[in-house]
Amino acid sequence: MKLEIPGISGPVTPGKVLCIGRNYAAHAAEMESAVPEEPMIFLKPSSALTGSGSVVAIPSRSRDVHHEVELVCCIGKNGKNISREAALDHVVAYAVGLDLTARDIQGEAKRKGHPWSVSKGFDTFAPIGGFKESALVGDPSDINIKLYVNDELRQYGNTGSMIFDIPTLVSFCSEIFTLEPGDLIYTGTPEGVGPIRVGDTLRATADELPELVVTVSGQDRDE
Ligand code: MG
Repeated sequence: MKLEIPGISGPVTPGKVLCIGRNYAAHAAEMESAVPEEPMIFLKPSSALTGSGSVVAIPSRSRDVHHEVELVCCIGKNGKNISREAALDHVVAYAVGLDLTARDIQGEAKRKGHPWSVSKGFDTFAPIGGFKESALVGDPSDINIKLYVNDELRQYGNTGSMIFDIPTLVSFCSEIFTLEPGDLIYTGTPEGVGPIRVGDTLRATADELPELVVTVSGQDRDE
């Protein structure tokens, strides 16, 4: 999926969709997981991306797909070993996204010590809303992010509660990966994650950012 991102010329397919795990203490607690000592990174394939207005599919391999609403930042220029001080200069735009997770598959992977790629990487498992240019977004460490399922508020957090803030995440990720224009960072979810079901409408908001709305379908099953 190609994305239209203000500040980047032409539609772009993100080369990397980086995701941060356990970046809010209350979410780590609800998962009965320890708070990490440094940012915990995993990746999703860009084929998982899908835009607002689309349909997300619960794969036949899973019976327990969870929503995780997250602030997403988009990188605007190349960078390696970016300092914390320079980090926000590399963020060209923000969006609200969902890190959909097959919790049953993830749980089995955790038990076996296997990677999370399958549980996080199915098609449509990375819904993303429209982008807003970072220069027009206020303080990224004070954004309220919410998720409604069928108009019921299920998740509500503020990016000020992140364990590792956005400058830290950009700087840390850039020590490992060269960050390139169009790369996305899903910055972690606050508490309140839970299952989605066929027929649900998911609506994610992040203050003044464009809303993200998707509906849920089943795949290869009758429900
Ligand atoms: Mg997540």
